[in-house]
Amino acid sequence: MQYRRFGKTNLKLSVFSLGTMRYFATKENACETISAAIEKGINHLETARGYGQSEEFLGRAIVAGLSVPRSQIHITTKIPPTADTDTMRRYIDESLARLNVDYVDCLGIHGVNTWEHLQWIQNAHGCMRAVWEAVDDGRVQHVGFSTHAPLEVILAVINTGFFEFINLHYYYFFQRNAPAVELAYQQDMGVFIISPGDKGGRLYTPPPTLVDLCHPFSPLELTYRFLLSDSRITTLSLGAANPEELVIPLQVSDRVDVLTDEEINVLNTLKTYGDQVLNITKCSQCYECLPCPENINIPEILRLRNLTVAYDMKEYGEYRYGMLENAGHWFPGMKGNKCTECGDCLPKCPENLDIPSLLQDTHTKLQGKARRRLWG
Ligand code: SF4
Ligand code: SF4
Repeated sequence: MQYRRFGKTNLKLSVFSLGTMRYFATKENACETISAAIEKGINHLETARGYGQSEEFLGRAIVAGLSVPRSQIHITTKIPPTADTDTMRRYIDESLARLNVDYVDCLGIHGVNTWEHLQWIQNAHGCMRAVWEAVDDGRVQHVGFSTHAPLEVILAVINTGFFEFINLHYYYFFQRNAPAVELAYQQDMGVFIISPGDKGGRLYTPPPTLVDLCHPFSPLELTYRFLLSDSRITTLSLGAANPEELVIPLQVSDRVDVLTDEEINVLNTLKTYGDQVLNITKCSQCYECLPCPENINIPEILRLRNLTVAYDMKEYGEYRYGMLENAGHWFPGMKGNKCTECGDCLPKCPENLDIPSLLQDTHTKLQGKARRRLWG
């Protein structure tokens, strides 16, 4: 296991973190998974107020006894932004009590997803007052934020200067947030990537087309290597629900050097193949078409189409598409079938895409059943 400095927190975190978002089936199962992760060198455990019984189960594992001293394990919990101070005060107390700890190493404001959340954070009588109190009395050591926001919101939140780390989506198959990774790095913030294996493409169960294109690597291995070879990135969350699920991802936990020529060649092949298959229907992800008067998330829908058409990533496409209109500010925007064909987006698209028909095509391909987030 390799370790990297978590930006200005100065913590040295393992390049994989155990994310406990998926409900552990039992207390015993949670303890076993946490112990196995620590044994394999993971020193960063991540949970959240909103993850069902996750904080409680992690707290019981702490009481049962971690195999290394508490001081060598770094715990992050996340709490949603609140409009007022008192609610955040109560939430912090409740999280510490459930976790059975006197302090958390890191508190992430969970899901700073909208301009309104940013206002709450900047309000002198908002949630950050309670957070700074907890920092002053030692109950919280470092403060960061997690986000699913549009890039513009993420950049503005980084620029508040309030935060020591960021937890965000950034993957080979979703590079929209690259400027946020760079800005965070320039500000010496720790960079913590949200579940590359799952949200980076459901790569635990890749389609055969993608498997073939990534040969001799696996799609999961390649996506981890893409991130681990980027020294601006500190750590990747790994949402193992049992000890067995740690094994394959951690095979790359020592491979943090720059991409090899062979890896670069495979990534180039992947891109060339995708470009050829998509041809004149490829969305280049420039985001110039927004805003849409119907609030359709055009670039994200067409990203899912790109992946489905180019690499047969239909399962992932359905999973993410099904969250539109069902997950609030965590995955905003309307589905493709809400397009009124008003034509506003057409002159803004540098690729001259026939956006309304591509949206309809995506809706036909991906309209599985509606989904909510995994937790909450
Ligand atoms: S044509 Fe459809 S997608 Fe484009 S702006 Fe109008 S409603 Fe939105
Ligand atoms: S403007 Fe065109 S290429 Fe750019 S994100 Fe929108 S649809 Fe894609």
